[in-house]
Amino acid sequence: MRRLLRPVVVLLPLLAASPAVRAAAPDLWAGVSVPTPEQPRSIGSAAAGCVAGAVALPVDGEGYQVLRPGRNRLWSHPRTIALLQGLGRDFARDGGGPLLVGDLSQPRGGPMSYGHGSHQNGLDADIWFRLPARPLGDAERAAPVPVSMVKGRGVDGKVWTPRHLRLLQLAAARPEIDRIFVNPAIKAEACRTARGDRGWLGKLRPWWGHDEHFHLRLSCPPGDLDCSPQAPVAAGDGCGAELQSWLKRPTVLPDASRDKPNFRRPVLPSSCTAVLDHPARVPAGGR
Ligand SMILES: [Zn+2]
Repeated sequence: MRRLLRPVVVLLPLLAASPAVRAAAPDLWAGVSVPTPEQPRSIGSAAAGCVAGAVALPVDGEGYQVLRPGRNRLWSHPRTIALLQGLGRDFARDGGGPLLVGDLSQPRGGPMSYGHGSHQNGLDADIWFRLPARPLGDAERAAPVPVSMVKGRGVDGKVWTPRHLRLLQLAAARPEIDRIFVNPAIKAEACRTARGDRGWLGKLRPWWGHDEHFHLRLSCPPGDLDCSPQAPVAAGDGCGAELQSWLKRPTVLPDASRDKPNFRRPVLPSSCTAVLDHPARVPAGGR
């Protein structure tokens, strides 16, 4: 019996060590608490990638605060961090704020064990539509309550304000932003009410959910050759037939679909294996 079992016992560690299989395991990525101390690089795509040399968004900054910091999903490519800090500043100077910043990426990106299928390569970030009059206290920040902007097939006039439109416009105007995912009802409201230059509306992409937060996606940083760009958004404001087809179906997701376990196992670029396996250590000076 023992003799028969031995080849299986020898084979199992070999299978487990297969780099592609290991790199696809969300629990491994979620289990690493610090980034790699190297030149920042976004690798792969938002839904199958990782990030090297990530930096953390400070939990408090001018015009923003980070929600649920205990999830340790406040890491990103420095380009994303700079964009969020700039957006917070601009929105505060415009009379708004603080912005409530949701998940960015894990310390080394990669697949997450629950919630998002994307946010893997340090170029995605969520910002809540809820605009509190004053910063949230620690308890509420740890377990914040989202507010949906959508009611039926349109926006909820009780909570949606021109400041929300202004915020989306400020974000979309930034050249680093590739696209912004919002609920189709929110895109329709932006199409209906935007005045003047409408070029920025093309970056607003209708998607499921995204009624209580919007999702920023940056384009690949220049020089990050391992970063896989998404196909560019179509020319124009995107307020036509495609949007109309979205509006025919319900797109607000039930609360129970939030933060569900992730069973997807994306095939990551091989260079993500080295990022995952890099010895975990905090660089001098800490982070
Ligand atoms: Zn998101």
